Amino acid sequence: MDFALSEEQSAIFDMAHAFGQEHIAPHARTWESDGTIPRELWPKLAELGLGGIYVSEDSGGSGLGRLDATLVFEALSMACPAVAAFLSIHNMCARMIDSYGSEDLKARYLPGALSMETVLSYCLTEPGSGSDAAALRTKAQTTATGYSLTGTKAFISGGGYSDAYVVMARTGADGPRGISAVLIDDGTPGLSFGGLEQKMGWKAQPTRQVQMDGAEIPAANLLGKEGKGFRYAMAGLDGGRLNISACSLGAAQAALDATLQYMSERRAFGQSIDQFQALQFRLADMEIELQAARVFLRQAAWKLDQGAPDAPKYCAMAKKFVTEAGSKVADQCLQLHGGYGYLADYGIEKIVRDLRVHQILEGTNEIMRLIVARGLVSA
Ligand SMILES: Cc1cc2nc3c(=O)[nH]c(=O)nc-3n(C[C@H](O)[C@H](O)[C@H](O)COP(=O)(O)OP(=O)(O)OC[C@H]3O[C@@H](n4cnc5c(N)ncnc54)[C@H](O)[C@@H]3O)c2cc1C
Repeated sequence: MDFALSEEQSAIFDMAHAFGQEHIAPHARTWESDGTIPRELWPKLAELGLGGIYVSEDSGGSGLGRLDATLVFEALSMACPAVAAFLSIHNMCARMIDSYGSEDLKARYLPGALSMETVLSYCLTEPGSGSDAAALRTKAQTTATGYSLTGTKAFISGGGYSDAYVVMARTGADGPRGISAVLIDDGTPGLSFGGLEQKMGWKAQPTRQVQMDGAEIPAANLLGKEGKGFRYAMAGLDGGRLNISACSLGAAQAALDATLQYMSERRAFGQSIDQFQALQFRLADMEIELQAARVFLRQAAWKLDQGAPDAPKYCAMAKKFVTEAGSKVADQCLQLHGGYGYLADYGIEKIVRDLRVHQILEGTNEIMRLIVARGLVSA
């Protein structure tokens, strides 16, 4: 057993961290108030191979593993978790196309996705179905040339911003086996978007409803096989859960680093506040929590890389544990900044706001417990 990162993995982390500090961190607050991420950022990330992190090398991607990906997202989140999480969604879609798409679909979408001239969004949730995703009602009706899509997707990260959408839609009977995954391009007649959602965090990335009203797509835009879309969507989520956990971890680590610095400078009762033992114990608890989260996350990623049968359970456990640890640490960091933690200038309140949603999306943390408990009870 070896817990050390390889030289290559350390280099991946350092590369993503340096990029984040140079190209993302200085602008994160502006992008948050603008409510959007400049499109020019993505091709720069793509130059580092981050447009197709785990797209196979045969398809022109970086061919990295899941553990490698967590390093990228941990490092980028130290600059801004909302930007990093958006990249994770794009990568989840790119991977789905590479894994399940026909040669034609890959040829049409992957080059743009890898260079990030084409940004991708993932559309599973609907107004009436979130956790119970298999109850989705968006319909893909067969036509002479392909499908006609009708339905509404809710909470879509990149809605009205992305260039193409991976949509899970019903081609068959009720339940998961009646669901297929298809691609629809921005600009398709019948595709429109709801108003910009006003959110607590993740403000830099636009979230809107994606509405389809008889939107026609060619048959060739079916991803893989009819009726398999739910399986593809869930497989994508295992990695998504790891990435979102890594985003919590990186941002919480950044908050802890900033807090250590702040506490060494802030004085009260004649000494710097890092000299109070009560506060030192809190620092120790946060360090323990984040190190435990890191080891657990990397183990889950390793399981997914190995194709271990219990990988989905580990991804669910890590997602629950790491996202909660991240939020707890960020909240404590805010407290240790006193009133300054509440001010935007210190950067901590943004991390608290950004991380909160990680307990809700990519499957809520209740659903993560459900996945774990189901396995326990059936065993
Ligand atoms: C900012 C943001 C961005 C998002 N981006 C995307 C995106 O890009 N694409 C996408 O498809 N979706 C996206 N989502 C949607 C997200 O995945 C859903 O919000 C999430 O899955 C929860 O669904 P829901 O909101 O419908 O809550 P519900 O499913 O209605 O859940 C409500 C509550 O009930 C609990 N609950 C539900 N079922 C059970 C159960 N069986 N046992 C115990 N507790 C249960 C839940 O945990 C939750 O606490 C995004 C959401 C947000 C907030």
